[in-house]
Amino acid sequence: MLDVIVVGAGPSGSSAAYELAKTGLSVTLIDKEDFPRDKPCGGGLTNKTLNRLNVDVSGIVERHSNSMELTYCMKKAVTAPDLGVFCNMVQRPMFDTFLRDTAVNAGAVFKKVGRIEAVSHYRNHIDITLENGEAISARWLIAADGAKSRIRRLVHNKKVVSQAFALEGKAPLDKNQKVSFDFFVVPWGYGWVFPKGDHHNVGIITFNRKIKISHKELQEYCQAKLGHTNLSEVVGHPLGIGPHNGALGIRRILFVGDAAGNVEPLLGEGIHNAIYSGQKAAKAISKGGTTWLVHFRYWFTMQRQRLDIATSHNLALAFYRFPRLGWFFLSQKWFLRKLMAGFVNGERLDTSIRGF
Ligand SMILES: Cc1cc2nc3c(=O)[nH]c(=O)nc-3n(C[C@H](O)[C@H](O)[C@H](O)COP(=O)(O)OP(=O)(O)OC[C@H]3O[C@@H](n4cnc5c(N)ncnc54)[C@H](O)[C@@H]3O)c2cc1C
Repeated sequence: MLDVIVVGAGPSGSSAAYELAKTGLSVTLIDKEDFPRDKPCGGGLTNKTLNRLNVDVSGIVERHSNSMELTYCMKKAVTAPDLGVFCNMVQRPMFDTFLRDTAVNAGAVFKKVGRIEAVSHYRNHIDITLENGEAISARWLIAADGAKSRIRRLVHNKKVVSQAFALEGKAPLDKNQKVSFDFFVVPWGYGWVFPKGDHHNVGIITFNRKIKISHKELQEYCQAKLGHTNLSEVVGHPLGIGPHNGALGIRRILFVGDAAGNVEPLLGEGIHNAIYSGQKAAKAISKGGTTWLVHFRYWFTMQRQRLDIATSHNLALAFYRFPRLGWFFLSQKWFLRKLMAGFVNGERLDTSIRGF
């Protein structure tokens, strides 16, 4: 029997598997995809995300961004004042493969699997049964299988709460284009352009699950922003947001990353919290003890992050519900500087807000 099975080899799962393997526990990391695989994502890593990683990913960062433009519906452009390098652009196939390989090099075993049919709980272990009938047993399971978490559905019999949905595609590179956030080009959300090494990542996101965004809206945004609709590889995906006070685990399962609803609800940054939660879940398990103690340890170490997510959720509600008022504050350079500097460097949101 394994010590831990990690389901999902995204940033949260690979970070957890890496930390567990380093402590000498037997870990199998499974994914339904072979690597390298793509994942719909802007691939923007804030400074706090780089600092959070226990490995050096500088070799796969394609661009360090140090200027950012924000608009209200493509008007009233504001350039964020001097933040220094704040965002580091990667492409997910390379980034995720790198993290997966780091976990494997530390001793985790990677396995591509078919559909997971069942999860069975026992007193001292947990089993998952795959579509080919194979069963894998472990003392613990870390569910890192993203916003559509199959494990969550199997054990809770309901979907992850996901309030946000995003669509993104690739556009040809235009060297003068900055990192841009164009708020309210879609209701309860924004459009973005992230310059990469050889293309622009262009996307739209809404944080209201009742609103449907379409390819047509993405194309209209691309036309307005870049003057063309030359977009390829357009894909959509939900983001795992909330509930912010729900259980982080059940019996011998700990949820991490998007599967735990850990995405930050104001801008939709998820990779930092995915890595953080993966590391904390791994630490809680590797320290040992009773099931209750492991859950408590994980829950306790996630409290700071969850408080931040809850604060961000309240801020997002006010910002997207009252766009003009929200924009009034955001477009004040002193406010923007304080908020963004805190955001990208990992200051607690309530600390940044108290600064006002
Ligand atoms: C369009 C878009 C743009 C985004 N842009 C950014 C950004 O710029 N910066 C940022 O910080 N965040 C961004 N996010 C959020 C970020 O992508 C996620 O928060 C992050 O990927 C979560 O990591 P994770 O490891 O929890 O899950 P994921 O990265 O979703 O990984 C889950 C893994 O589980 C596997 N899996 C799923 N189901 C199963 C199964 N049944 N069995 C086995 N394996 C399974 C998947 O194949 C995948 O490899 C964006 C999200 C979207 C949708």
